[in-house]
Amino acid sequence: MRILVVEDEKALADALGNGLSLQGYSVDVVYDGEAALCAVEINSYDLVVLDLNLPKVNGTEVCRKLRTSGSSTGILMLTASSGIDDRIKGLDMGADDYLVKPFHFPELLARIRAILRRQGEKRNVILRTGKLVVDPNTLKAFIGDSEVALTTKEFGILEYLMRNTGRVISQEELLEHVWNEDANLFTHAIKVHINNIRKKLTAAGGEGLISTIKSKGYLIA
Ligand code: CA
Repeated sequence: MRILVVEDEKALADALGNGLSLQGYSVDVVYDGEAALCAVEINSYDLVVLDLNLPKVNGTEVCRKLRTSGSSTGILMLTASSGIDDRIKGLDMGADDYLVKPFHFPELLARIRAILRRQGEKRNVILRTGKLVVDPNTLKAFIGDSEVALTTKEFGILEYLMRNTGRVISQEELLEHVWNEDANLFTHAIKVHINNIRKKLTAAGGEGLISTIKSKGYLIA
């Protein structure tokens, strides 16, 4: 599990980073909102521990940007005791939970575990649209009863489209979410993969499931 810690009080940020590393999490630490937005663009995090009062870009704005980009990364806000308005704003912006400073480290760990557990439950839900069934637990896809043999990348693309049914997904968004660590890929690769997925779905009896929306992206409606 990969966690991003965003906190401008350096001593606290580094203590959280070390503490979470010792718990076996893979942790990155940044000290302002701008660095946080860069980090989430480059890496895929399971959870962000996000202080609300941050230099450059504040925490609620970071939260809002994460959510409007379609990210389902868990967000645990850290707030000052006086910041009720901020807390409400943060939750409205899509944060999963909040913790008021000062807090005890075991409580932070418990909140983190709870968010990751809830996400895991969401992640393991079997996705269905008409005849198409995608099972993230087994990495298998079916049209009715016939299994569609997909490569891992193809499965990742199809899963992402299915998790965002009804929303047009651009090639750039697919690149960001399905190829987190491979910077050398071009949108052309997406086209090739989408064509292969379509061929395989069609062969299994699921024709026309993925629509191309001209110069916008792909859609499973
Ligand atoms: Ca702060």
